[in-house]
Amino acid sequence: MARAALRLLGFLLCWVGLRAGEVRRPVPALEINGREYVRIADVATRLKLTRRWLEAGRKVQLTDATHHLELEAGGRFGGLEMVMDGLNVFLGDPVLARGGDLFVSRIDLEHRMVPLLHGLWNGPPPRHPVIIAIDPGHGGVDPGKENLPLHLQEKTLTLDTAFRLKKLLEAAGYQTVMTRTDDHSVAPTKELDLQRRPEIAVVAHADLFVSIHFNSSSPDARPHGTEVYLFPPAHQNSTESSLDHLDDREPSKDHPGPSSANLFDAWNVILSHAMHRQLLAHLHTEDRGEKLKHLGVLRGLQCPGILVESAFLSNDAEARRAATPAFRQQIAEAMLAGINAYAAEVDSLRPSVPAVRPAAPVSGPAPAAPAAKPFSPPQRPS
Ligand SMILES: [Zn+2]
Repeated sequence: MARAALRLLGFLLCWVGLRAGEVRRPVPALEINGREYVRIADVATRLKLTRRWLEAGRKVQLTDATHHLELEAGGRFGGLEMVMDGLNVFLGDPVLARGGDLFVSRIDLEHRMVPLLHGLWNGPPPRHPVIIAIDPGHGGVDPGKENLPLHLQEKTLTLDTAFRLKKLLEAAGYQTVMTRTDDHSVAPTKELDLQRRPEIAVVAHADLFVSIHFNSSSPDARPHGTEVYLFPPAHQNSTESSLDHLDDREPSKDHPGPSSANLFDAWNVILSHAMHRQLLAHLHTEDRGEKLKHLGVLRGLQCPGILVESAFLSNDAEARRAATPAFRQQIAEAMLAGINAYAAEVDSLRPSVPAVRPAAPVSGPAPAAPAAKPFSPPQRPS
């Protein structure tokens, strides 16, 4: 038995080494604005992508048999936005134009582009998701966002959507744990609330964490659409901080880290992208992108996790949709489809040795974390 386990371990390490070696060989880098950047031409070569200029030296298209992505320096969001297979994805550092070529930061290459394109990091995928933690945002004294004229409170909508998702997941064979099941605060203070929610997932040995929210930009009633948030890789800013030229990078004085969420950077990326695609396909809402944010509710997770801002309560048309059970059912169905798509993708990345996959009971030991590095600080090529 032990010998079989060792053989499996050796096989896994060999497989990971071979697969990872192809795309993780160092790409020449140079320092721009204190960050390590890599040339798009080198990225294309390393990731076996075909490069085509859409605007010489400023906007480029990279394609292979299955993927199509576009990068633009100084675009709508200062070069932070990448369009990946038709979806808006916000990078952690701006795409820069220099000397007739484009550059992306090494962190964006390794922590976002490589997982999105090749689905791999420097370790085997997490186990097939069995236990899903569902987090209905807010509750009790914290109503969340509101649309008072329409008598809508975020905490009520998130709880209803969570119960719908729970029912769908369990019918599909998943096990679930909810961070709250009624209109109560999860903890007495906001800070404790944000610690307690991920703790519930950790204690339950959850394989995935999905936090459900509804957005608001009040008093501006114009914005509408769907956003998916993931925890930023170490040393990168939240999207909003980047846009406001603020620095909220971690590790920091307030969060000396490393954050356990960063163990799952690659899988957070795959989960958010799968969920994002399904939400837009089911809801037909505006694509406001996959964004990075140092959310307290994600920081302490020990599994991949995301936060979904499904729709804007401050936009009356969208709020009226959110008020209908049919719309909330669509959100839940989209989330189930996103989780299924994530599961299929991580399964496809796993060596086919089904005989050794554990049955994964809820009461069993905690699943081993994937052998991913907590941090991959930029390394200068030797
Ligand atoms: Zn919220």
